[in-house]
Amino acid sequence: MRTGIGERPRLIALIGLLLVLGFAGTSFFGFMASRQALSASISENELPVTSDTVYSEIQRDLVRPIFISSMMASDTFLRDWILAGERTPDNMVKYLREVLVKYGAFTSFLVSDRSRLYYQSDRVLKSVSEAEPRDAWYFRVRAMSAPYEINVDRDLAHADALTVFINYRVLDYKGGFLGAAGIGINVSAIGSMTADYRQKFGRSVYFVDKSGMIVAGMPGGMASLPPSAAPADIRSIEGLSGIAGRALSTERGSFQYRRAGKKWLLNVRSVEELGWKLFVEKDEGSALAGISEALGLNLAICAAITALVLVITSLTINRFQSRLERTATTDGLTGLLNRSALGLLALQAFKDMKREGRPLCLVIADLDNFKALNDGFGHQAGDGVLIRSTAALRSCLRESDLACRWGGEEFLFILRSCAQAEALPIAEKMRAAIAAADSGPLRITASLGVAERTSGEDFDSLVRRADAALYRAKGEGRDRACAAD
Ligand code: GH3
Ligand code: MG
Ligand code: MG
Repeated sequence: MRTGIGERPRLIALIGLLLVLGFAGTSFFGFMASRQALSASISENELPVTSDTVYSEIQRDLVRPIFISSMMASDTFLRDWILAGERTPDNMVKYLREVLVKYGAFTSFLVSDRSRLYYQSDRVLKSVSEAEPRDAWYFRVRAMSAPYEINVDRDLAHADALTVFINYRVLDYKGGFLGAAGIGINVSAIGSMTADYRQKFGRSVYFVDKSGMIVAGMPGGMASLPPSAAPADIRSIEGLSGIAGRALSTERGSFQYRRAGKKWLLNVRSVEELGWKLFVEKDEGSALAGISEALGLNLAICAAITALVLVITSLTINRFQSRLERTATTDGLTGLLNRSALGLLALQAFKDMKREGRPLCLVIADLDNFKALNDGFGHQAGDGVLIRSTAALRSCLRESDLACRWGGEEFLFILRSCAQAEALPIAEKMRAAIAAADSGPLRITASLGVAERTSGEDFDSLVRRADAALYRAKGEGRDRACAAD
């Protein structure tokens, strides 16, 4: 049977293609949607929240130094000491050392307006002068109306370490300006905070001053660079350079840029107190690792389901196809070949035997007086006899023989490699087997005709000769096998 043979691979391929497209499509769109949602959540929630937390930590860290500086500025000893003419510099140095040690500050200082001397916790450092750009802060504080300022600067007394100074105005008892006092804290504390964030939350926190120089922390992936290789200016960093202008002028904003083959999500906010911008960033890829893994798993499951569906489909088609082939070639009641299938197979057998130079016989069997049995016991009983007769006939055949239900109660057999002299005993055996198949009222006999194929004889002629032999058997009293002339 040719039904569906060429179509099956195409059908399987089509189903496979639809499943793959469907699964891959839904997985891909699901992945894209999750990715977008995740990126949005990082940009809109995670990074701003980190930024706020870092900002409030900085504010909290500044409260104490501001308070300490305020205490120094209003300290009666300090004010009286200046008013009394700064006669014992050692006492002031000692006082400043006490403050430094007691509050764990990085530096403590007093600048007297009268003498312009800069006192520090271990010595009198220098004189401040309007001509010196590094002392500009003092003259700014001297002129300002606010009680204090926060100034991030290099500390001359500590090898130019970057320091956050609280510059508090010191006033006499009538409000006259006496000088500036306060403490400084080291920015390295902020640096260690940025490292904490990197380790704990996988976010990079760094601070950039007004001019774009990185003052603490490092952009993502650059923390381990040696100081000599670490970039100082964000304008010199791939990707960041393109958004530096906007980032430095924003109060608060979200940005994206590409660097080192990664997409970075960045949040920037102003830290007014320090005159800095706080940068918090995260690379999208690390955040997406989880959903990329889920996508991989999803696709693996889809592939497994596709394979399973294809195997099941293929098996089902095979089963239906072989069932279809069986019903198209066999007789429903007896399971023997039907007439059209035998026609084809007989021709093949003719060719094979001719090529091999072997004989071939055809046997026709017809149940005797079957009409009477049907009439007497009913059609169903007749069917039962047909089934049992078939089994009896089969038991007399070899593997290579063909057996067919030729008509109602007629059977036709092709015996390969078999001459008439061998076929007659087989036919006789068939006759005996049918006679023995049933006993009692359903006992039935059969008449058989046997013919050997003569050289070049066609199928119809061979059937006609076997039929004539069968007719003779009927005429001679039935329940016998006759050979053709
Ligand atoms: P003979 O000995 O001369 O062959 O007599 P017969 O009665 O066997 O011959 P006939 O051809 O007159 O009758 C054949 C009967 O077989 C007629 C038909 O109803 C019956 N028959 C044909 N096919 C089936 C079948 O599938 N089931 C049953 N139960 N009977 C069938
Ligand atoms: Mg008949
Ligand atoms: Mg009959």
